[in-house]
Amino acid sequence: MELGLINKVKDTIFPQLCIACQRDGFLLCVECRAVFVCRHIQHCPGCEAVTTFGARCPEHYDHVLDGIVSATWYANPLSKRLIRLWKYRYARDAEQHIGSILTQWLQVTQQIPSGDWAIVPVPLHERRERERGFDQSLMLAHTISMELGIHLKLDLVRRARHFQKPQAELDDSKRVARSFAGVFEVNTKITVPKQVLLVDDVYTTGKTMSAVASELKSAGVEVVWGITFARGN
Ligand SMILES: [Zn+2]
Ligand SMILES: [Zn+2]
Repeated sequence: MELGLINKVKDTIFPQLCIACQRDGFLLCVECRAVFVCRHIQHCPGCEAVTTFGARCPEHYDHVLDGIVSATWYANPLSKRLIRLWKYRYARDAEQHIGSILTQWLQVTQQIPSGDWAIVPVPLHERRERERGFDQSLMLAHTISMELGIHLKLDLVRRARHFQKPQAELDDSKRVARSFAGVFEVNTKITVPKQVLLVDDVYTTGKTMSAVASELKSAGVEVVWGITFARGN
């Protein structure tokens, strides 16, 4: 059976409904996509203080992340749904929506501070990538790099240690208690960029991103800004 026909049969048995309005057709229909709400303000990486480009507030002047920008709230049911469909059900159309919502939002709102940036995805351990079949932070980093013309640097940092459970699956107290010592390693054989945009899908406590940022700064990177599709839990 040819692929088009297989998809038609699949759509007849499992009709694709819009996650917002439930209309038949697309995962997120054109009308609902057009009114998808992104964040207009950004907050400090360490607290809820509203700052320009999500820069550190005076109280968190020593936070290892210089700032964090996120396109949506994880509490937005549509954001949450898209992420879950993407990460746990491998829905390619969810991935495309997440990539396009994030990059269009970055282009329209110009949320990235100016500078000579290199884009770096938060590295996923290769074992987890094999289990899941794809690497979501790499895909987002790739999309942002292509759409915004920012250099993608893949050989800068790697994951040296693997957790049994991903950070997102732990409860709050375990998330805070988890040690990231020796989890990420920076490749010191190459010239490190001065400014890095670190990409991940969700920013929750910021522990994972801060652990990468800390290694990058120890290796000589001067500014590390985070970019995620969603923020919160
Ligand atoms: Zn809709
Ligand atoms: Zn703060």
